[in-house]
Amino acid sequence: MLTMKDIVREGNPILRTVTDEVPVPPSEEDKQILFNMMQFLKDSQDPELAERYQLRPGVGLSANQLGLNKRMFTAYFNDEKGRLHKYALVNPKIISHSVSMIYLPQGEGCLSVDRSVPGFVPRYERIKVKAYDENGKMLEIKLKDYASIVIQHEIDHLNGMMFYDRINKENPFKLPDDVPIRSLY
Ligand SMILES: [Zn+2]
Repeated sequence: MLTMKDIVREGNPILRTVTDEVPVPPSEEDKQILFNMMQFLKDSQDPELAERYQLRPGVGLSANQLGLNKRMFTAYFNDEKGRLHKYALVNPKIISHSVSMIYLPQGEGCLSVDRSVPGFVPRYERIKVKAYDENGKMLEIKLKDYASIVIQHEIDHLNGMMFYDRINKENPFKLPDDVPIRSLY
């Protein structure tokens, strides 16, 4: 099983790499990696397993967070309405997005960042993503609100971007003034 020792931390250049596309349909090896990544997220959200294996709870994990130069990620979480979202996406691409933005009032965190970084991270309120699933089936997924935030955080990873790159440098709690933006909660 994957544990925190498998997760690379900030400072590692793979987190600043624009990752390579994954051949579709994914190889058996890539499917297994996605399966393990999904399992890590589930385990990390199980209080007993998290305690036993010292896992930080996570809702998303990109392949480059495991040191792999591969354009794929998994996400597993409940949205603000309690609906379960479960994604294993290969070569994801945002094909359209809203003008309006949102942010988490508590800011964002990351399994690769062992410190809290205060500040608002502006995200598109709604996105449409084209991707392939683990079997190579093409998908078009519409996401909004919390789900939109999580998926943008993961796609950023695949482009070598960290959440704090999007925080205002002068004032971390300053929001863009040229677009409509609201707090998710
Ligand atoms: Zn992250």
